[in-house]
Amino acid sequence: MSSERRHRFATRAVHDGQGPDPGTGAHATPIYQTSTFSYGSHARGAALFSGDAEGYLYSRIGNPTTRAFETKIASLEGTEDAVAFASGMGAISALMLSLLRPGDEILTLGPLYGGTDGLLRDVLAPYGIRRRDVDDTDLPGAISPATRMIYLETPTNPTLTIHDLDLVAASARGKDILTVADNTFATPYLTRPVEHGIDVVVHSATKYLGGHGDVVAGVIAGPAELVTELRSHGLRHVGAVLGAFESFLLLRGVKTLPIRMERHCDNAEALARGVLGHPAVAAVHYPGLPQHPQHALAGRQMARFGGMLALELHGGAPAAARFLDRLTLFTQAVSLGDVESLATHPASTTHQLLEPEARNRHSISDGLVRLSVGIEDGADLLDDVLRALDAVRASDAPATTLASGTS
Ligand SMILES: *Cc1c(COP(=O)(O)O)cnc(C)c1O
Repeated sequence: MSSERRHRFATRAVHDGQGPDPGTGAHATPIYQTSTFSYGSHARGAALFSGDAEGYLYSRIGNPTTRAFETKIASLEGTEDAVAFASGMGAISALMLSLLRPGDEILTLGPLYGGTDGLLRDVLAPYGIRRRDVDDTDLPGAISPATRMIYLETPTNPTLTIHDLDLVAASARGKDILTVADNTFATPYLTRPVEHGIDVVVHSATKYLGGHGDVVAGVIAGPAELVTELRSHGLRHVGAVLGAFESFLLLRGVKTLPIRMERHCDNAEALARGVLGHPAVAAVHYPGLPQHPQHALAGRQMARFGGMLALELHGGAPAAARFLDRLTLFTQAVSLGDVESLATHPASTTHQLLEPEARNRHSISDGLVRLSVGIEDGADLLDDVLRALDAVRASDAPATTLASGTS
């Protein structure tokens, strides 16, 4: 691994975790579509189970195709090891169920992905694991003797707030507290949280890592000892196991992560700038814009500013609906990070269950639209968005305003 580390990111994305198949010489990593593996002999079976021999036993515990994907992700995140799961939520629930105990407290820097929020509220709270949502500026004062984990996403969904990874890591240093960053939006191409002192990185690999909208998967990267514990408890006993075919698709997807991310960033930056000042737009949330409140912080911890942006439209929910229904290149669907562009209205879909107070606090207004900017031609995407915005404006403006020509 250490010799591989000397290569740069894009080279590691292509090569790490993979090599000619030891059995056949196959150049592409085979899909090891098997539930179980032969011990070969009675003695080796006993040695495998006692840990005296290394090898594959059963695909809930490990599979060579999945192992290749895990090794590649550990290399890209710069961690000792990684373990894959059947979904991002499979990964996050395995992490929390394995490491938190009744009476423990988890501090979250919101807003969080809806599924993670639901896990904390509906599954972990009844087991006596308390969650407290705090602001970055309240750390480290918010830490209590019960605090075992600090958990955050950056950039956040859907308003692209940036949390300060260095600050979070510093506030937990020297204490028995694990810091965890959900790196789904940034990907290791743009941000590597462990370089900022964060302990553990989680991903919904469904998004940019897979990149093609054809797989649901999750992965956790971190120190070897912790990953081994997550594999033996969170994966082996809880069981959200990634399939070999999904692992194959992810291996294929991750190879192009660097060039896809460059294009996502190009297109999102051009779109963010291109819609600024449009009369239908009240605000553009994009960390790459100088007016974004954490633009400087984003510049420090992100290589570029990502492929996600959110538009705040004048005219609330009706304006958002008109805008979305007029888009032709953006598919109205949840998820993100696909090569195809996607659009959602968080207030009526993904964030519908959030309390109005929390929705307000995190600026998820009725006029907010989230765009996952794909890798199509950026000029076509901008045209599509501007045409939809013009249509909102035309049907939104009172007739008198149009007649008087003030806009
Ligand atoms: C999608 C997503 C998840 C959940 O991942 P699944 O693969 O859908 O289970 C977690 N965190 C973030 C930031 C996400 O976008």
